[in-house]
Amino acid sequence: MTHSTDILVLGAGYAGLTTAALLAHEGREVTVLEGHETLGGCASFFREGEYTFDVGATTMSGVLPTQPVGRVFTHLGLHPELIKQDPGMLIRMRDRDVVRHASQDRWIEEVERHFPQGDQRSYWNEQYELERKVWSMVSDQPTMPPTTLRDWLGLVNARSIKGTMLLPGLFRSASSLMRKHRVDSDRAFVDFINEQLLISTQSTAEKAPSLTAAMGLTYPSETYYPMGGMYRPALMLMRHAKAHGAQMKFRRMVTSIEQQKSGRWRVRCANGEAYDASTIVSSIPIWNMQNLTKDKASKYFAGLSSRNADSWCAFSMYFALDGVPRLSSQYVQLHLDRFIPGVHSTSVFLTFSHPDDHEKAPAGHTTVTVSTHTRSEDWKELSAAEHDEKKKQIMKSVMDLIMRRMPECDGLTPMLISGGTPHTWERYTNRRNGFVGGLPHSIKRPMIFMPPNQTPFRGLYMMGDSVFPGQGTPAVMLGAWNTVNRIFAP
Ligand SMILES: Cc1cc2nc3c(=O)[nH]c(=O)nc-3n(C[C@H](O)[C@H](O)[C@H](O)COP(=O)(O)OP(=O)(O)OC[C@H]3O[C@@H](n4cnc5c(N)ncnc54)[C@H](O)[C@@H]3O)c2cc1C
Repeated sequence: MTHSTDILVLGAGYAGLTTAALLAHEGREVTVLEGHETLGGCASFFREGEYTFDVGATTMSGVLPTQPVGRVFTHLGLHPELIKQDPGMLIRMRDRDVVRHASQDRWIEEVERHFPQGDQRSYWNEQYELERKVWSMVSDQPTMPPTTLRDWLGLVNARSIKGTMLLPGLFRSASSLMRKHRVDSDRAFVDFINEQLLISTQSTAEKAPSLTAAMGLTYPSETYYPMGGMYRPALMLMRHAKAHGAQMKFRRMVTSIEQQKSGRWRVRCANGEAYDASTIVSSIPIWNMQNLTKDKASKYFAGLSSRNADSWCAFSMYFALDGVPRLSSQYVQLHLDRFIPGVHSTSVFLTFSHPDDHEKAPAGHTTVTVSTHTRSEDWKELSAAEHDEKKKQIMKSVMDLIMRRMPECDGLTPMLISGGTPHTWERYTNRRNGFVGGLPHSIKRPMIFMPPNQTPFRGLYMMGDSVFPGQGTPAVMLGAWNTVNRIFAP
């Protein structure tokens, strides 16, 4: 049987749910197809007894009313329970604790104390200034990146013309800004910046454009902890979409997407169902789209995939503690003091549940989500036994590191320890090769040349973290907002 609808949204992660909520809010007929049994994708959750674990994403940012997350929630009248983190993060380096205060002034004082070389004040003031300008430039540009003449014409407005002044920052590396302010001579500071950039831009100072690096480096000033877990705001989006008539269909793994002669799209699912729609908005990553589509569309996605083939994978770990560590922030970036084979970063990111968050852990207990970067090549061609052994070794090394370097956890017993490799991520999010975290920002592939939201195929739109404007919940929500605007003004 073929189900017919106006708009099909593929995937129920942050991109898909934002799109569905916005479209349904405007009275459009929407059906969401999600392969997994629950919502959230990379920002999903799982439960073990009384504990709830975030699987990947844990920090909310971009929530001010002028920023993408804040704008969507304000527009829909939703109020997720978010706790501002100040400090936004604790960075435990090998030889010092750097406290990432939220206030710009306090942060500059802290960074000057730790890394006195060069002009830290002017360096950070420029970062904040750039960040403010970028938000204001990208917020209201639904035709970015331009794909048609009309898009280019749409960009001719006062804000974009002002924005062109910023464009060189897409081609200039973050390290050039460090050199300009002479803060690059301290190796420890370069390490600090590289690890901060890796978790925000998926890149390092030599490669990340100074413009997007500014957003990544300043985000801990506005970092929020979502009570109950990262899936909670997504659940609000889903409920809003449903309350406005959207159909949510879980366990619907899309196996093909094809345009019919009539121009309508037909989507088939692994369970045998078929759906027809005039418009498809897909958050399925570009790497997967190639095999789901045919002919010209498949070639188009194959081209995008080969031009954007480098993506990170995640190694994640989850455990509970039978106590509450005393921490100044729920977020800790812990630098490694020893090399861990299979880990391609020199830090791990820890998220401790808030002591009052009793959805995540009962009173007096804590859940911890740990994530770090790994490469798909490291996990390919391993036998099941080799894979499990490698996973066990990394988990042991990471747990040793935490117990050795986090005295806040002294006397507490870790329980229910589990882990996730690229295979686990691929199994749960269906992302090819377990590629997560989006496209690494690069001066070689500036943002405006990222895969666009509008494809060359009428009625087929892309959003999510493998297309413009990239990774992280604020970016995918901005992509969804832009795409919805395009649907209303094609
Ligand atoms: C370890 C880790 C930590 C992160 N930390 C943060 C953070 O702290 N803050 C932050 O803002 N961002 C963070 N991110 C990035 C953020 O999670 C993602 O960029 C964002 O959630 C991506 O949303 P999405 O909707 O584009 O994709 P996804 O979340 O991957 O959603 C896509 C959905 O599509 C479904 N799907 C895929 N293929 C099919 C198919 N064929 N048929 C049907 N459904 C399908 C999947 O099951 C999935 O639910 C992190 C990511 C990772 C991996």
